[in-house]
Amino acid sequence: MFCEDDVAMVLAERQTPNHVLHLLLSIFSAGFWIPVWLAVTMLASGTYKCPRCGARTRAYVPRKFKAALAAKSIP
Ligand SMILES: [Zn+2]
Repeated sequence: MFCEDDVAMVLAERQTPNHVLHLLLSIFSAGFWIPVWLAVTMLASGTYKCPRCGARTRAYVPRKFKAALAAKSIP
């Protein structure tokens, strides 16, 4: 994944909900926690973040960053 802030390819990470914790909360609340669990899961899905700066990453390198990225990789 590409990070615009770092102008570099980074190994992006996704924040995943703690499903075990939500399952336990659902059991103890007799199912009342399930709508919250679903909401948290939907909000968290699909956002990959840069491990270095926390910015959202792209699956591709935008055209305006290609030259900058090429210049950086040349020693
Ligand atoms: Zn970054």
